[in-house]
Amino acid sequence: MHRLVKDVHDYPEPGVVFKDITPLLADHDGFHASILALADAGRDASGEVVVDKVLGMEARGFILGAPVALNLETGFVPVRKAGKLPRALLAQAYSLEYGEATLEMHADAVSPGDRVLLVDDVLATGGTMAATCRLVEAAGGVVVGAAVLMELGSLSGRDSLGDVPCTSLAVI
Ligand code: 5GP
Repeated sequence: MHRLVKDVHDYPEPGVVFKDITPLLADHDGFHASILALADAGRDASGEVVVDKVLGMEARGFILGAPVALNLETGFVPVRKAGKLPRALLAQAYSLEYGEATLEMHADAVSPGDRVLLVDDVLATGGTMAATCRLVEAAGGVVVGAAVLMELGSLSGRDSLGDVPCTSLAVI
């Protein structure tokens, strides 16, 4: 996977090294293998699917989360940036590596008791994942796991996830 993720220096601002996953997405074998590996986070040791919904965060979490949901034969729920969803919603403010934002989810997208897997491309500070956990909890769902392509280990993002197990295909 490493060869298909490109470091972009000083993006989106000076001093930041951005991990660009678009070469991985453009490579069928790399993309396919990544989806299968992320989907494993929604199965138990015997291979049984243990989630009812997959949530993906805008925007790269959509690209990865939707095929993971299809692989697990569950529904997919988009978690969007503020102002994009048309119906009654839940909102959660959060901090990210490069500023502040709000994430939103349709209020009826997760049902009470739903077991949810969160999928995104990168876990950095963990702010995005933690805010999404709060949205799921507000809807009465249970976050059973998080899965990302890459975890920026130096930022200790998984510390903000509490007991939620996080699967990273690579820790960098
Ligand atoms: P966090 O909230 O954990 O600090 O940041 C994670 C979010 O920011 C994810 O939604 C991810 O898409 C985005 N992000 C942060 N850093 C990077 C990066 O280096 N590369 C990519 N592709 N996304 C990043």
